[in-house]
Order: sequence, then C-alpha cells, then structure tokens
Amino acid sequence: MLAFVNAGYLAVWKRPRVVDSRVGCTVRKARSFPHMREDSIVILDTRVSADKDALRCVLQRASSRGSVGLVSLKRQNWVKLICGASTEDVPLVRNLALVYTLAGVDCIDCAADEAVVRAVRQGIDTANSVLDRFELSQRQPILMVSVNDDEDPHFRKAVFDPDRCPSDCPRPCEISCPADAIGLQGVDRAKCYGCGRCIPVCPLGIIDAVHYTRPIEQLVELISRMKVDAIEIHTRPQGVAAFARFWDRAGAVAMTENDTTHTLLRELKLVAISFPDMPDLTGEMRKMHLVLGHDAASHVELIWQTDGRPMSGDLGKGTSHASVRLAEKALDGVHSLGLPGFVQLAGGTNEHTHVLLQQRSKLLTAAQFGGVAFGGAARKAVRPMLTTQNGESVEDLEQDWRRLADAITAALQFILPN
Ligand code: SF4
Ligand code: SF4
Repeated sequence: MLAFVNAGYLAVWKRPRVVDSRVGCTVRKARSFPHMREDSIVILDTRVSADKDALRCVLQRASSRGSVGLVSLKRQNWVKLICGASTEDVPLVRNLALVYTLAGVDCIDCAADEAVVRAVRQGIDTANSVLDRFELSQRQPILMVSVNDDEDPHFRKAVFDPDRCPSDCPRPCEISCPADAIGLQGVDRAKCYGCGRCIPVCPLGIIDAVHYTRPIEQLVELISRMKVDAIEIHTRPQGVAAFARFWDRAGAVAMTENDTTHTLLRELKLVAISFPDMPDLTGEMRKMHLVLGHDAASHVELIWQTDGRPMSGDLGKGTSHASVRLAEKALDGVHSLGLPGFVQLAGGTNEHTHVLLQQRSKLLTAAQFGGVAFGGAARKAVRPMLTTQNGESVEDLEQDWRRLADAITAALQFILPN
C-alpha cells in the first residue's frame, strides 16, 4: 500500500506507484504514520512543488517573447545583457548567462577571455537543460565579446597596495564598489570591471587604474575557436584613426589568398560599434562606416551602440536620459547618411529606460531602432539571488528553483517590461 500525503490530503493505493522526482516532489519517509510501513509512505513536499510552479510560471512568461537573437533587432525589442567588458568573475558570468538566457535575452556580451566565454556557454547550456525539463523551447542568445581599439574606461582594473591602508580607514572604497571586488587583500582583479568609483573616494589617493588592450591576434583566434557570434568595438570620440587601425589589423589576421573577405566579417554574425557622445557624431559615424566598408552590412548585422553615460545604469533613474538623447542623435545620423544597421542604447540604461522610451516615440517608431543593452542595473537586479551572504557566487543555481525563479523575475523587468 502506498499513501500520498499533501497538505492534509491522503490518498491510498493498493499497489505502490513509482513517483517521478521530476514532477516536483520531495520523497522522504514519514514517521507520523506508525500504522503503515515507513517505506510505503510518500509525502509530497508542497514547498518544493510551489517552487517548481513558480519557476514554471516565470519560464512560461519569458517564453511568451518568442524566438530570440538577431530577429529581435527587426522587431525593435532587442535586449542585450552586458556582463561587463572587464568582468572575469567566471562563476558570476555563468549564473548571469543562465538567468538571462532563461529570461529570454537576445544577446550576452562578455569579456574577450576564453574562461569567460566558456562560462557564458555553460550558462546557456544549463539554461537549455532547464528549458528541456519544463518542455519549453531552447534558446541560443547571440554570444558577443567586447574589445577596445584604444584606451577606454571599460578596459581597466583598479589596483592598490592594501599594506598602505591605515587600520582605522572606514574603507569607502569597499562601500562604493558595486562588484564586491574590494577586500582586505586589495582588489579582486576578476571581479573588478573598471567602473572607477573607488578611485576618487580613497582619502589617501592610493587607488590607480591600469588600462589594457587585448592583442588582436588572440582575439581573432578566440572568435574562431570558440565560435563567438558577435563583437563589440569600443571606440572613443574622434577615435576613427584607432578604429581604422584595429579594423585593418583584425581584417588581415587569417585572411587567405582565396578569401579576402575581412576576417571578422567572415567569422561573425554581428558587429557593434560602441561610442560616447562627440561633437560631430554624424561625421564620425560616416568615417567609421567607411572603415568597415560599404559591403559590411551584406555580411553581418551592424549595431550603433550609444554609450550615453558609461557604466552608470545602477546609480539611479536619471542615468538613462543621456543614452536616449544620444540614441536620437545617432538615429538622425543614420537617417541623414543612409547608413545601414540598428541604433541600440547602452551606458546608463536601467529599469526606467523602457518608460522613458515610451515617452520618446521618435525612437520607438524608427525602423532602425533596434533595442536596449543593460549592464550594471541588470546585474544589480539579480545579484541578491546570485550571491551568497559571503559575497561569493551561488553554486548550482539551477538546483534552487525558488532562487532561480526570483532571479528570472528580476531579469524580466528589463526584457518584458509591462
Ligand atoms: S569600484 Fe569599480 S573600479 Fe573600483 S574595484 Fe570596484 S569595480 Fe573595480
Ligand atoms: S579607501 Fe584607500 S586607504 Fe581606505 S581602505 Fe580603501 S584603498 Fe585603503
């Protein structure tokens, strides 16, 4: 005889039945039914069932978005997750990729580092195993790596010598760090993403920023070997000379006698150019397009990424304005020059951006408006669910259905705004 006990409900069968753990039950022996053999009683744990229902519910909501990837650019609802161009915190990146893939993001943008790219792939694969389990369609967001053509704040790490810190310092550096990258040992290089907030708050001025640029040959090799889908090139105001240098050198790597197509145009599906505001934006965009070549858009999709207020989206409501204004300016440039590609917001975007966009119909009604990229705000929203009390990344997040459901719910505010 087998009994199922669930919140006061008792059903008894004459023959034992196999209980499939995939239906969301915790199976354990019951001690409160002494008249029955212990191994013949199965208790359905209602808490676990509720967690599974919550996860199923949020996954179904995310699935209502339909297919993900480049198709969303044309639908004008493209959403990209920025893990951080300098974030090398592999467990965090893996969990971000897991949660945002389940939430239905179109693209995941990460550091051009092999371990980080692997972590994104692991997160996507794990997300798809969760979707399989719930009999929902798999997703393959575009995997993008970020690079710089010259010195750029997204590509730097804070450093200081902790031995120089007075023992009575109130540690404002640690308090200001959004990545929990600062501890008694100094800066955790993998966690630091170069936002620079710790630098001005140190009363002794002992925190420096170390800039870096990844070798182009390594980058091209990484793209080819890891089957990266897309690249984002960060360039600076009046930086077209550096941009041209980067593009020409990358193009020459692995170009063959038989195929002289630019290496990146041959390997990739998408090229994004990220730039801040600059005096003659339209003129600079024209020069950048000339560098790419007139036929670039016949090989890849192009994105003009407006980096309104870099790495600031988690600071508050107002940071979106700069990005929206810059996107309007870039869209004017695209239209007046007849440039191909889509304009996409970044730099200061957060949970208020969609509301702001609704008020600026000029963007939403433009055929070449692609969508929005979210960085610091998107990471901050899910951070409580992805991090333990010690500040470390949660392991096996996919096993904790309640935590996973809560993280996806938080992520959905960026992907499926009301
Ligand atoms: S505050 Fe920013 S720059 Fe400083 S350690 Fe943290 S992430 Fe790095
Ligand atoms: S604020 Fe400056 S002195 Fe104080 S702990 Fe941080 S790095 Fe050291």
